[in-house]
Amino acid sequence: MVRALGARATEFAELRRDLHRHPELGLAEHRTSQRVADCLSAWGYEVHRGLATTGVVATLRRGSGHKRLGLRADMDALPIQETSGRPWTSVHDGVMHACGHDGHTAMLLAAARYLAEEGEFSGTLHLIFQPAEEYPGGAQLMVEQGLFDSFPCDAVFAMHNMPGIEQGRLVFREGPAMASSDDVTITLHGPGGHAASPHRTPDPIVAASAIVMALQTIVSRNIDPQQAAIVTVGALQAGSANNVIPDVARLELSVRALDPAVRDLLEARIHAVVQGQAESFGVCAVVDYRRDYPVLVNSRIETEFAREVGAELLGEDGIERQGPAITGSEDFAVMLQHRPGSYVLIGNGVGDDHCMLHNAGYDFNDDNLAVGAAFWARLTQRFLCN
Ligand SMILES: [Zn+2]
Ligand SMILES: [Zn+2]
Repeated sequence: MVRALGARATEFAELRRDLHRHPELGLAEHRTSQRVADCLSAWGYEVHRGLATTGVVATLRRGSGHKRLGLRADMDALPIQETSGRPWTSVHDGVMHACGHDGHTAMLLAAARYLAEEGEFSGTLHLIFQPAEEYPGGAQLMVEQGLFDSFPCDAVFAMHNMPGIEQGRLVFREGPAMASSDDVTITLHGPGGHAASPHRTPDPIVAASAIVMALQTIVSRNIDPQQAAIVTVGALQAGSANNVIPDVARLELSVRALDPAVRDLLEARIHAVVQGQAESFGVCAVVDYRRDYPVLVNSRIETEFAREVGAELLGEDGIERQGPAITGSEDFAVMLQHRPGSYVLIGNGVGDDHCMLHNAGYDFNDDNLAVGAAFWARLTQRFLCN
């Protein structure tokens, strides 16, 4: 099947490079979703548009089977100025496909065409082309707007490329696979005053400094050492002159966990530590804790099923049955809160010319188009069989 899809690789590499040349940010994937919808309509899919603004869901029914399968690809790009030097470099200043979502879209389209023209299966296939994975979370929007009510799925699957892993290698993981991601803004208020009279005003800078250090104790003293947890203070802003004690200091945090209970504990401890520290320094603290993407949890049965499909296609040497968890985040986690399924990684290649995701020099590896598409096509045929 990889060979059958390989015969179409040039066509889909051209499509992928066209998408790469015209990247669009989350919820503004107008050209991309138009291209996706046009292709799928031409191949005989029933196409629905408009979920989460630019989302596309395409349905193909065959035979008398009752099972329903959802396959999801993301379509959005990032606010990065591309430096890859490729002939298909982005034509839009400051926007590029630095996460390979152009490739994910092309892989699923290649599978879509194969399944429409040559694929035998029995049941209902829903292809979900999602906007805004990077920001602000198109999966959540699509689910809120009735994705699984309008397009019921018994299971959902998605795939992401990963530089640093051998090209085409498929990596599976049952259980928690990617971290939750929360954003926290802490604002400390005091009346402000003269630098020469520190005894007359609480100092938000001293309080903020103590809070940065106290936050480090949460992971080291409150979290089970066997668990993963991250509290990063990524920004600390306060003051503008050496002779003024400012009236405000602001901290921005990124908080991550691989277990929902750990996530809850981190949130509770951050509130407690900040309020306790603020009180001790006489400043007023306001904590704005925003829960972003949840922990991504791959279900057992669907992950095992996906492994078997991968092993059939590539052999045991071509797959990793239980890869490591990743502390990055992914909004497909939201779909997995509503339906069982699995999120699969595909190696983008190793070596210097395979930049990391979100790097200005990154490019999707087109050799993956045939492998990824074959995996989707075979998974569909095995899932939707009588
Ligand atoms: Zn990304
Ligand atoms: Zn991505």
